[in-house]
Amino acid sequence: MRQTTGRNFLFVPGPTNIPDRVQRAMMIAMEDHRSSKFPDLSISVLGDLKKVFRTTDGQVFIFPSSGTGAWEAALTNTLSPGDKVLASDFGQFSHLWIDMAQRLGFDVEVQEVEWGEGVPLERTEATLRADKNHEIKAILACHNETATGVTSDIEGLRKVMDAAGHPALLAVDAVSSLASIDFRMDDWGVDLAVSGSQKGLMLPAGLGILACSQKALKALETAESKRCYFDLADMIKHNPAGYFPYTPALPMLYGLRESLDLIEEEGLDNIIARHHYLAEGVRAAVTKGWGLKLCARSPNWYSDTVSAVMVPDGIDGAHIIDVAFRRYNLALGAGLAKVAGKLFRIGHLGDLNELMLMGALAGAEMAMLDVGMEVQPGSAVAAASNYWRNNDPIPHQKVSREEQFYEAHSTGSVQG
Ligand code: PLP
Repeated sequence: MRQTTGRNFLFVPGPTNIPDRVQRAMMIAMEDHRSSKFPDLSISVLGDLKKVFRTTDGQVFIFPSSGTGAWEAALTNTLSPGDKVLASDFGQFSHLWIDMAQRLGFDVEVQEVEWGEGVPLERTEATLRADKNHEIKAILACHNETATGVTSDIEGLRKVMDAAGHPALLAVDAVSSLASIDFRMDDWGVDLAVSGSQKGLMLPAGLGILACSQKALKALETAESKRCYFDLADMIKHNPAGYFPYTPALPMLYGLRESLDLIEEEGLDNIIARHHYLAEGVRAAVTKGWGLKLCARSPNWYSDTVSAVMVPDGIDGAHIIDVAFRRYNLALGAGLAKVAGKLFRIGHLGDLNELMLMGALAGAEMAMLDVGMEVQPGSAVAAASNYWRNNDPIPHQKVSREEQFYEAHSTGSVQG
């Protein structure tokens, strides 16, 4: 029987938990998206999203789709059939983007990479240097591979592109990194940045978001791929006045407004620092508490939004996930494709804090014990609490525990 009381503990790496404020903001009566008031909302969200992508030069587009739609928009608006693109395959999402590029008729040069690592910079540089005639028109890179919990070095990728003097467009999947892992569109020279609403932006799935550099927008003029629903030209015609070429997902836009306010209030740097701090606690739980390995091969690949936990031979990760769900009302992420059954994933992105993660760690641990894994009961929570109690979410605002306690008493905010 499935447990149905209490909250469902949602710890898949997207969709993520939606803050109450965002949920309330979406509970609206429908309104006319062609009214003279509507542009107040649309122009404000399009403008503020630029801050989240950290771009001043770029332009952001919002589609009523999921992130996959924004992948398609990125490719079809900037490339022509038969164009060569370079991409690395190191997890289900980098793989699916390659699959889409192939199905759309591009000539994809695939760099196979062991799952557990990310974009190989040296290999990429060598490939780019060898491409003397600049036949490669775009590089597709998955910033955070959600299937394996691996983050690639996009700044480093830009550096190797520059070192090779290669003019390809840099297209980055920032679906599970935007607003949670450091991402700098302008500084890193990203031309196409793809994201979705259901991860760091703390909304339901339903918005595909694409940020384009001026170079990418210029490519629109020559890109011959067939496109219609995802044609940026239609957006470019309507967006400046605050309208969309078709009916926008109104509640989602109101939710987005609220989530952008939350991001502004917490501060993007603080959000990124919080994700790192929470992730470090989870990693301590996995490696020091349970003594297990992450799928990410080494710390330089560690993702601050998702940890993929390898399970020992003879144990089925899917079984752990099923027990966690049915017995403890906890949703963990499954191993996908090549790693199905070999791991389970803990999503740690979005609206989260230590105690919520404690619940997920405790629940995962109980499920692991239930399926016969030998882990020390309480070890994950002990290791995570040890990390979190001795570290601060925002390092530059370091205030000791004693000071926090003293402050609370001396200002009289501790009652009774
Ligand atoms: N890219 C990455 C890294 C993802 O994690 C996902 C979804 O989880 C996608 C792309 C696909 O996005 P969507 O499911 O919103 O279409």
